[in-house]
Amino acid sequence: MEQNLKNGESGCQKFKYDGQEVYLYYTYLEYKDWWILTKIEEQTLQQFSSPLSTMVFRVSIALMIFSSIDCLVVYLKSKKINAKIRQKTYTDDITEGKNDVYLKYNINRILEKDARFALVSLEIINLKGLITVLGVKTVNQMMKDLYQKLESTLRKDEVVVHSYLGEYKLLLEYNTQPELMQRIEALDALDAKLKFIMGVYPIDKSDINYEDMCAYTNVAKGNLLPECSYGFYTKELHQKEVDQVQLEESIRQGIANKEFKAWFQPKYASDGKTVVGAEALVRWYREDSIVGPYVFIPLCEANGLIKEIDSLVLEDVCFNLNQWIKEGKNPVPVSVNLSRNYLDDSSFIRHLKQIIALHQIPQHFIEFEVTESAMVGNEKELKETIEMLHGKGFKILLDDFGVGYSSIKTVSDLHFDTIKIDKSFVDGIGKKRWEKIIEYTIDLSKQLDMDVVAEGVETKEQYEFLLKCGCNVFQGYYFGKPMDTEHFSSLLYPVKSTT
Ligand code: C2E
Ligand code: MG
Ligand code: MG
Repeated sequence: MEQNLKNGESGCQKFKYDGQEVYLYYTYLEYKDWWILTKIEEQTLQQFSSPLSTMVFRVSIALMIFSSIDCLVVYLKSKKINAKIRQKTYTDDITEGKNDVYLKYNINRILEKDARFALVSLEIINLKGLITVLGVKTVNQMMKDLYQKLESTLRKDEVVVHSYLGEYKLLLEYNTQPELMQRIEALDALDAKLKFIMGVYPIDKSDINYEDMCAYTNVAKGNLLPECSYGFYTKELHQKEVDQVQLEESIRQGIANKEFKAWFQPKYASDGKTVVGAEALVRWYREDSIVGPYVFIPLCEANGLIKEIDSLVLEDVCFNLNQWIKEGKNPVPVSVNLSRNYLDDSSFIRHLKQIIALHQIPQHFIEFEVTESAMVGNEKELKETIEMLHGKGFKILLDDFGVGYSSIKTVSDLHFDTIKIDKSFVDGIGKKRWEKIIEYTIDLSKQLDMDVVAEGVETKEQYEFLLKCGCNVFQGYYFGKPMDTEHFSSLLYPVKSTT
């Protein structure tokens, strides 16, 4: 019997059990190590000793064997279906190659090999544009061709999958970083018609979670090496991203709590004593500190939160103007900075106008500063915005004049009331060539009927030179730094009594 069991053969064995003679029938199911065991006492068997009983008994045994075979057939069929389902689950419809699910469920097995691996995310740039121009069918074929090209570069145990529209993942084996870099660069040159960006995560086998690995390749993709189409994941980059996410979350909280307030930097007339205006500069009252705009404006411009920030600043400016009027002070026009990101968004500009109207602030108390870089790319919309604001009686200042690339073109195309000469020009005072440029700029502005504000004036020499050139208004640390509302309101004069 032992031999039969080993060989998977069915049979029958008689032995003594509990003092009785019994027969044990064993039938192999041909599935895993499963058997059907039937124990029959000899006594019972003798009752079936008549020919009829023997027949009944034999039929029962035969039925048992048939049902076992039936089980086996069902098992084999389900095995085949499972294989088909698995193949479908692992196949990408577009490229007909492997998909992300394959990599997800096989990566740990591959990484068991004693070798270094890197996960690369390769993304086709401007896929939407390609689809618009070439059509879905052509682009799908291009993606299929690319899959095959990528596959042809693979070594044993390496994998390529098409994970989603235009994004491929490659699991590459490598020995040294330079060797890996060489392979990445070779991938870049694989298809002349397509451009990619790639994020590389050299896998640290101690933390293997596929989702995390993919996130790391995305971090790398967002931080390409200078003049390269690829980036490498590092812990520092990751920390930077985490910090950015946390900062964004705190900014959102800060917006909800109205922690962003306007500070005011006074603008002075030629006499250097009379305050004739102010620029509103945002400050974030974050817990116990007051944070300057460089910490959060670039991020807010990138994620769109700048709209909320600028709305809060404008609201605060309007609130303060109202307060000063109520206190019997003589307010001066306050210029607020408009971010280039929404200048072509007419509904947002209307929203800003509504804030001013809601606070019942006369138009001449609010001016708008627009930077030169805003002019690049959306001249038409910008022109409309400026004309619309002008039409409503607001003054528009061209901020940071001279820093952009097309300063002269900008002032000739668009109607600004004032130009603000950038601090980098003012810093050049003392150098002949710079002084000539400043003289020329102020002269040109006058001829074009624009006022001139000099920004970032820090010294008496700068002030005197600018005054000599005909500059009207001065802003800078020499006269006054940005200050909170309390300090600024102390610079305002009371309204003169007419009696
Ligand atoms: P900006 O509009 O050109 O503002 C002038 C910046 O120069 C201010 O820096 C101001 O504090 C600084 N400044 C003024 N005089 C001097 C000086 O004599 N020396 C030096 N070293 N700096 C001087 P701040 O407040 O840090 O603002 C920086 C930039 O952030 C602003 O440049 C503006 O582009 C942006 N910004 C500030 N507030 C807002 C805002 O409410 N909305 C938007 N969209 N942008 C803002
Ligand atoms: Mg400004
Ligand atoms: Mg400026």
